[in-house]
Parts: sequence; C-alpha cells; structure tokens
Amino acid sequence: MKAAVIEAIGQPLVVKEVPTPEPGPGEILVKIEASGVCNGDIDAHAGDFPTPALPQLPRIPGHRGAGTVEAVGADVTRVAVGNRVGVPLVHRSCGHCEYCFNGQHMLCSDVILTGFQVDGGYAQYVKAAAAYVGRIPDGLNIEQAAHLTCTGVTAWGALKAAELETGQWCAVFGLGAVGQYTVQYAKAFGLRVVAVSAHEEALAIANATGAEVLVNSRADDPAKYIRQQIGGVQAAICNSTTVEPFVQCFHALRRKGTLVAIGLPVADLPLPIFSLIMKEITVRGSFVGSRNDLEAAYQVAARLGIHLDTEEAPLDAVNEVFRRIREGTTSSRILLRP
Ligand SMILES: [Zn+2]
Ligand SMILES: [Zn+2]
Repeated sequence: MKAAVIEAIGQPLVVKEVPTPEPGPGEILVKIEASGVCNGDIDAHAGDFPTPALPQLPRIPGHRGAGTVEAVGADVTRVAVGNRVGVPLVHRSCGHCEYCFNGQHMLCSDVILTGFQVDGGYAQYVKAAAAYVGRIPDGLNIEQAAHLTCTGVTAWGALKAAELETGQWCAVFGLGAVGQYTVQYAKAFGLRVVAVSAHEEALAIANATGAEVLVNSRADDPAKYIRQQIGGVQAAICNSTTVEPFVQCFHALRRKGTLVAIGLPVADLPLPIFSLIMKEITVRGSFVGSRNDLEAAYQVAARLGIHLDTEEAPLDAVNEVFRRIREGTTSSRILLRP
C-alpha cells in the first residue's frame, strides 16, 4: 500500500510503498477514504512536542482517518466488513486500570496512540483495534467524519469539561477546525457563543454557524471586549497553540468561570493566583474525550448537519500541506486522499 512515513523528525515525510498490515485478533483493517491533517501531527513531526510525546520512528502519522472496514481479525463482533469507521488518536489502552474502568481511556498510563506508537491514517489502509474505532452513522459523510474523529471528540470533551448550563455563555478562542466545530456543538448544547479569532473570515463562518458575539483579537483585547459587551463568560475554551490566548480566556471569565485548555503550546501558563482564588476560577485541561464522546459527536453532527468546509489534497502532497499549515497560509481543514 501507499503511505506517508516519518523517517526522521523534522525531515520531509517519505511517500512510498509499505506492506499492508494484517489484522490480528480484535483488530480490523480499514481502507482509508479521507485522512484529516491535525496541527498535532505537524507539531509532533517538527519535534515541537516534549520527547515522550514524539512519534516512535519510522511512523505513519494520522489520527483523523476515516474509511470502510475491509477485513476483520478473529473475535471482532463490534464492526463488520463494509461498515464505515473513524480511526481515532487512542489506538488502545490497558482496559483495566482505574481510568479505563471509568471510561477515561485517554488517561490510561499504558495508552497507545495512533500515529505515534502505532501507524496511523496517512495511508491507503490502517490497522485499528475494533473496540476503539468510532462507528460513523448514516447521514454523516466521510469527509466530516474524518475531521470529527479528532476535532469532534475534542470539542465535545471540552464542552463537557466546561460543565455549563443551557443559556450560559461560552467563548471559543481560536477558530481552526476544532474551534469551528466547538462553536457548532456549543450551539447544540444550548449555549450562547462568543467566537474569538484574528481572522475575519473565520469569524464570519462562526457567525453563520451560531456565534452571537465576534471578537477580532487583532482589533480588540478579547477579555476586555467580552467583559464590556456581556459581562464575561461562564466558560472559555482555548485551542490556541500560543500562550497569550489562554491568559485572555482567564480574564474573560465571570466569577466561578471555567477555562478549558485544549490547545497544546509547550509552555507554562502564567495566571494571577489572587484573582484565581477571589473569583473561584477553575482551570482544567481536556484531552480528546471518551469513546462515547466520539460516537455522540458523530451522531449529533449527522443529525444537526454540523459542518466544516474542507479542502483536499493527494497523499503525495503531504509535505506541501504541512508547509502550508505551518506557514499559516491554510488551516487544519485539509483532507489527504490516499
Ligand atoms: Zn488531532
Ligand atoms: Zn488503562
């Protein structure tokens, strides 16, 4: 099969023929139709993550792959040949630690990540653990499903972590693929949405899909603007890859508000402790989400038409795609077609 392989950190991926994997017991072989490119893939490939979070090489990256089950190994009952599935970041976990028992497999200390410890979806085929793939419902096209396999579950998990009630305000800082989906899911959760971005075009899309208050972070101080316009928000979800927006999120919160961090800058977060205490602010991280979250995100996207405008490129163009996303000339809404 054809695959894009990271052979050395920071070096161009090599698109080449590699053996097609064979599914063992509990595993399936998925024929990839579309594979979303994530900022996480790009940062990991560049070596920007801490060493334990870098892929083990050589490695086929990709944790937003979606396609059709081509073959199943022994003891697979959850999915069948011909089913459509998404192959998410968590390849498998131990299954028996306190986190796995609690539906929090992404916190398992023995978690194995797709595209990092095992090969991912930048290929014609990927091997996956049947128990961990997301089953794509009718009514959700493969392109949306591919992106949602990473972004949908991340947005869904972040909104759950925000613990908001219907009618409360949620600010979404950063409007890449995750941010745009978060705006739409927030609406589905019955929340009122503030969208914050430095890009007018992204703000216009967020506005068309449900954001009521728009803040161009180049023109206004987002925290100040949000406090002036609506008195602050009950939660702010930050998916930026730089530190400053996290601090802005903090200052945009009302008393008792929650900052949910989902972006991954490798940096410390400087916050005023005095204000944290006096306002009883909660700061929490949210790492993707559970298997239930993934399938719930698919189901709601299918029913409500949750949608991201996607762009496509052939797998052979992977290095060009990485370069363009890194340079900021396109955002992480590109799908690779193997
Ligand atoms: Zn991702
Ligand atoms: Zn575990």
